[in-house]
Amino acid sequence: MKKNLRFLFIGAHPDDPEFEFGGTAVHLAQQGATVKFISVCNGNGGHYSMARKDLAARRYLETQASAKLAGIAEYEVFDYSDCELEVTLEARGRIMRAIRNFAPDVVISHRLCDYHVDHRAVAQLVLDCAYLVIVPLYCNDTPIPPKNVIFAHPWDRFKDPRPFRADAVCAIDHTMETKLKMLDCHVSQLYEWLPHCDKFADFDPEIVNKPWPERREFLKKFRGFRNTIIADDYREKLIQLYGKEAGEKVQYAEAFELSPYGRQVSLEEFQELFK
Ligand SMILES: [Zn+2]
Repeated sequence: MKKNLRFLFIGAHPDDPEFEFGGTAVHLAQQGATVKFISVCNGNGGHYSMARKDLAARRYLETQASAKLAGIAEYEVFDYSDCELEVTLEARGRIMRAIRNFAPDVVISHRLCDYHVDHRAVAQLVLDCAYLVIVPLYCNDTPIPPKNVIFAHPWDRFKDPRPFRADAVCAIDHTMETKLKMLDCHVSQLYEWLPHCDKFADFDPEIVNKPWPERREFLKKFRGFRNTIIADDYREKLIQLYGKEAGEKVQYAEAFELSPYGRQVSLEEFQELFK
């Protein structure tokens, strides 16, 4: 049981925590861990026709619906505009205080080589907190947590300057249904913005009104493939972790890399956190 462990995912946009950590988050919460998501931007850039303000309000409701399904403690959304987040002292202070107030065992956030400028800004801001979290004279209105924090990154596909390294994997077959339902809450993204980015290729505009089994198959096909890639790419690790029979059967997984900043633990301890 992970009753005493606290996990904080800091993503750039509403839906990043679900995509990168959703299945593991549900798994950890089911085991008694306390899980929180933060979206640093308010999501007001992810559409082709809505006004920014209306979109941010809509996406906030989507995050809260998703949090309810996940059984997580909180899904907080900061008010930075999409595509305009900068690495400023003000933003760093805000993230620092959020980390210290939540006192997590593990903070998970994007890598610096991510594709989206907001992801890279969040990556830099969180990385900048990794050491400063223990500096007493910095943000001295917010006490330093008793335990130093482990920093980690979720799987990504970027190879430059170096590919992601899976220091821990988590099979999510048992939570994939909930992960897909969490993604399903983000209607503005999964059924509007992302199909738009894909030029509506193979997209049925009626899918959003169809019963859940059909929406689930759509989400699995278009958005679940990353978790299949992770399971296939790290099959040996899954077999090591769950044994030959169970490990070979895993269809969906998420993976995490230990950051060299923040609290250092052995790779065994790191893997154990997500098991
Ligand atoms: Zn994002």
